[in-house]
Amino acid sequence: MNDTILKALNIRKAYREGSISTQVLRGASMEARRGMATAIIGRSGSGKSTLLHILGTLDTPDSGSLMFNGEDLTKLSDSQKAAFRSKNLGFVYQFHHLLPDFSALENVMMPLLIAGMGMRQARQRAAEYLSLVGLEGKFSSRPSEMSGGERQRAAIARALCPRPSLILADEPTGNLDAKNAQAVFDLFTTLTKKDGAAVVMVTHDNSLAARCDRVLTISDGVIADA
Ligand code: ADP
Ligand code: MG
Repeated sequence: MNDTILKALNIRKAYREGSISTQVLRGASMEARRGMATAIIGRSGSGKSTLLHILGTLDTPDSGSLMFNGEDLTKLSDSQKAAFRSKNLGFVYQFHHLLPDFSALENVMMPLLIAGMGMRQARQRAAEYLSLVGLEGKFSSRPSEMSGGERQRAAIARALCPRPSLILADEPTGNLDAKNAQAVFDLFTTLTKKDGAAVVMVTHDNSLAARCDRVLTISDGVIADA
């Protein structure tokens, strides 16, 4: 069985502002495998977020291919990309991006409802995942009524509860203190392993990266095995 779920090949990306062009990615290649957590490390400004957005079809490369289960995602229309993301991807960001006017339960239910799940089943699944991340007492709390670590746990529950096959995380514990960061990271990797998902995590924290199955370094627009 081929465990590769996503394969990026020779990705190039430049940002143009007026007459100035910055070449951020210069032929970056990597793959993500089922049941495996891959860390991407690199200094600030090296293109980690740019690469992650391209892997998640939120940004388009200038050239290169992005194969997901044999299909080139760069060839999809915008609406096909949105449908692809809803069905297959989970995103976790440094800042939780929870909606402030909704409870933790409603926030976690949101992607399930968008994907077409019925209200009753969505509520059940969201409750299950909030409990898995240790927030069983916080279903009706709004983000403002939760601690930083709790908000990030809720964001992880929201990303994982549709059971996406690929999870992209950009500094998911970047806002937490060291102790919380490690606890949230361990929870995150345990849950993704349980579901057999592939994880690609950008981080500048080498000690967290070292706990992943594989560490890749991005430098000068290309990716190397650390
Ligand atoms: P990292 O996540 O590794 O810190 P980024 O991918 O955010 O790096 O940024 C890589 C480079 O691309 C930086 O020099 C940044 O200023 C530039 N960049 C990122 N996004 C844009 C954008 N939308 N427009 C112009 N330049 C950008
Ligand atoms: Mg970044």
